[in-house]
Amino acid sequence: MTETGYHMSAEEFRKQARQLIDWIVDYHERRVVDLPVLSRVDPGAIRRELPEHAPEQGESFEAMMRDVDEIILPGITHWQSPNFYAYFPANVSYPSILGELLSAGLGVQGMLWSTSPACTELETHVLDWTAELLGLPEPFMSRGSGGGVIQDSASSAALTALLAARERATEYRSNEQGLVEHPHLIAYASTQTHSSVEKDARVIGIGRSHLRAIEVDEDYAMRPDLLEQRIGEDLANGLKPFFVCATVGTTSSNAMDPLRAIGRICREHGIWLHVDAAMSGTAAICPEFRSLLDGVELADSFAFNPHKWMFTNFDCDCFFVSDRAALIRTLSILPEYLRNRATEAGAVIDYRDWHVPLGRRFRALKLWFVLRHYGAEGLRHHIRRHIALAQAFASWVEADERFELVAPVPLNLVCFRLHGGDRKNEILLDRINQDGRLMMSHTRLNGQYVLRFCVGQTHTEERHVAEAWRVIRDVTAEIPDVVS
Ligand code: PLP
Repeated sequence: MTETGYHMSAEEFRKQARQLIDWIVDYHERRVVDLPVLSRVDPGAIRRELPEHAPEQGESFEAMMRDVDEIILPGITHWQSPNFYAYFPANVSYPSILGELLSAGLGVQGMLWSTSPACTELETHVLDWTAELLGLPEPFMSRGSGGGVIQDSASSAALTALLAARERATEYRSNEQGLVEHPHLIAYASTQTHSSVEKDARVIGIGRSHLRAIEVDEDYAMRPDLLEQRIGEDLANGLKPFFVCATVGTTSSNAMDPLRAIGRICREHGIWLHVDAAMSGTAAICPEFRSLLDGVELADSFAFNPHKWMFTNFDCDCFFVSDRAALIRTLSILPEYLRNRATEAGAVIDYRDWHVPLGRRFRALKLWFVLRHYGAEGLRHHIRRHIALAQAFASWVEADERFELVAPVPLNLVCFRLHGGDRKNEILLDRINQDGRLMMSHTRLNGQYVLRFCVGQTHTEERHVAEAWRVIRDVTAEIPDVVS
C-alpha cells in the first residue's frame, strides 16, 4: 500500500477525470450554444467571487467544479461556440484535447533529445508530415537542410526568426558583441503586419525605428516595389537590411503578401525572409489554395498556427526553417549540467536550441492525434467547409445594399461594413456582441471602422452562419438612420 499523503488518490482521479471529460463533452455538445458568446462580466467581477487567500485546508474536486460552473463560466468568452466569428479562430477538437491530456499525464520535459527521445522524434516527424501536407519545399524538412519545431506562438516564431536573421547578418557576432557594434540593422514588414513583429523587433533590441512599415496596395498586400525602393534607400545610407516579414493572411483583412516578388528581393540582398501564415497557412493543406504559398521556397522561415484553424488547442505554432544550422548556432548554449552523450555526438536534435525557452512539453502529441484522427482528407473537408461558408456570407453581404465588402475574401474572413459612417458600425458591433447570439470583432482599413466575420470554429455549420446573418440584419434594422 502506498502512502497518498495529501495527494489525490488514484481512485479519486479516475472518477473525477471521467466526470471532467463528461463535463467537457457536455459543454461542447450542449451548453456552449446557449451561452452568450461574449462574457458579460464587469472588470473585477471574477476576483470578487474568489477567496482572498489560498485555502489552508485542501478542498474537494466537487467544490472546485462547482466554482467552475458558478464563477468561472460566466467569465468565459466562448471561443468554442459555433457562433464565434471574432478575431481568428482558436479551434479545438476532441483528439487534440486528448493529446493535451496525455501530454499532461506523461509530464515530460523535452528540452533535450536525451530527456525524452520520443518527445523530440515525434515532433520532428510530425512537423515533416505537416510540411509535406502544406507543400513546403524539401529544405524545410528534417531530411533537408532545415526542419520544424513547435513553438508556443507565431509571435515567438517571428522572434526566433529575427534572432537568427540578426546573427546571420552580423556573421554570428551580435550575440557576442551586442547591438552597440551593429547599430545599422533594418527590418521590414508591411503596414498590415501583425503587431507581434513590432514587439519582437523591440525585444531583439533593434528598436522600433529600425522596423520599416512598407505601404500596401488596394488589397492590403505589401508592395514589393516600395520594399525594394526602401531597401535601396537604406543601403545608400549605409544601413544593413537584414529581415523581411511577409504575411500570408494578415490579421486585419486576410491580405496575401506576394511571396515570390518579396522573396526575389530578399535573395538579391541576402535578407532573411520570414513568412507569417498564422491562420491562413492551414488552407495550403488543400491543393487548390497552395498557390497562396507560391514563392515560399525563397523564404528562410515559415510559421503557421494549428492552434488557430487546425483543430489543435493552444498552444501549437509550427515553425520551419530552411537552414537549421543558422538557428542552432544562434540559440545553442551548452552548460555542463545539460551535457550528454547524444548531444555531444551531434546525432540528435535538441529542441532547446530552436527557441527561447529551455523547458518544453510534449505538444507534438496533440498535433499527431489531430493529423491521425482527421487524416489530410478530413482536414481538407472541414477547411473547405469553413471557406465555403465565409464565401456564402460574403455573397449575402454583397447582395444587401445596406452593406459593402471592404476587402477581398480569399478564404474564411469577411471584412464588411454598413454604409453610413463609423459610428453606425460601432453601434452595430456593440449591439451584436451584447446580444450574445454571436460574436464578431472589428478592425480599421483605410481609416474606416470595419467589421470582421471569420469562420473557423470546429462546429460552425451553415445553419449557424445563416442565423448569424439573420441576427446581423435584424440588429441593423433597429439602428436609427440618424446615426452616422
Ligand atoms: N501573425 C498573424 C498574422 C496573426 O493573425 C496573429 C494572431 O492573430 C499572430 C501573428 C500572433 O499569433 P500568436 O498568438 O500565435 O502569437
